[in-house]
Amino acid sequence: MQVMSPDLPLESLRTAFGRRLRENQPLARYTSARIGGSADALVDIATAADLAEAAQTLWDLGLPFVVLGGGSNLLISDAGVREVVLFNQANAVRFEESGGVPSVWAESGAGLGAIARQAASRGLSGLEWAAGIPGTLGGAVAGNAGAHGGDISMVLEMATILHRKDGRKDWSAQYLAYEYRSSWLKLHPGLAIVLSATLALAKKPAAEIRAQMDTFLAYRRLTQPPGASMGSMFKNPPGDSAGRLIERGNPKAPLRLD
Ligand SMILES: Cc1cc2nc3c(=O)[nH]c(=O)nc-3n(C[C@H](O)[C@H](O)[C@H](O)COP(=O)(O)OP(=O)(O)OC[C@H]3O[C@@H](n4cnc5c(N)ncnc54)[C@H](O)[C@@H]3O)c2cc1C
Repeated sequence: MQVMSPDLPLESLRTAFGRRLRENQPLARYTSARIGGSADALVDIATAADLAEAAQTLWDLGLPFVVLGGGSNLLISDAGVREVVLFNQANAVRFEESGGVPSVWAESGAGLGAIARQAASRGLSGLEWAAGIPGTLGGAVAGNAGAHGGDISMVLEMATILHRKDGRKDWSAQYLAYEYRSSWLKLHPGLAIVLSATLALAKKPAAEIRAQMDTFLAYRRLTQPPGASMGSMFKNPPGDSAGRLIERGNPKAPLRLD
């Protein structure tokens, strides 16, 4: 997030968002890194419809904003944030198991790990790799989160996007131009947000899915420290691992969050 000026017109925001607006909110507690200053204005978002309405209102007012999901891939400046922060807690989840290919639809503030656990308990495979990845579905769709050879691009059936100019659209993985930990959304900040997404799953015995997830979680516990950490926020440079470089100190290759 960047510090921007001029100051936000708080009176207009109070009128637009009423009790959903929180002013001068310390943001460190909302992020994995647990650092950074305050947001002048934070708006609580409870549903995907709320998120769409808030984004549209801010675009109409010409005010900059960012979506804050789980805060597990963000570093917040000590100087704070002058953009409006939309704190996305829209977390409805629905599984579809009656048709051909089973799937899960969820609002973008739903936790990716929680969706993966619910899928596992229903005997639905496809998200084992997501075990232990913090953050929301929206953050994962925007950043093509992944691990252990799997990622969002491999399971995304459709993401419902709100585009600043084109309105609400359903975008396939192809449209999102996925690459390693990157997407069209990440390369065009401020132009569109994720409201919800549908992920394709496959039937498999729940015990097998859980065993695979347990193996991935055990590996994570072995290789990452417990509690608040920078985890896998950085992209691995070609042929090396960001974690290894951080632990060695003074990395030769610059590490990138973007
Ligand atoms: C301990 C730890 C382990 C991790 N392990 C992994 C891993 O194995 N693999 C991996 O890929 N990542 C990993 N990460 C990074 C992080 O968990 C993922 O990038 C995650 O998908 C980010 O989701 P979030 O909701 O926390 O996003 P946030 O940190 O809240 O936001 C990240 C970016 O996404 C944008 N964004 C969020 N929601 C939306 C939305 N609805 N629409 C549009 N833009 C949105 C934000 O504006 C911001 O630019 C790890 C991080 C930690 C701290």
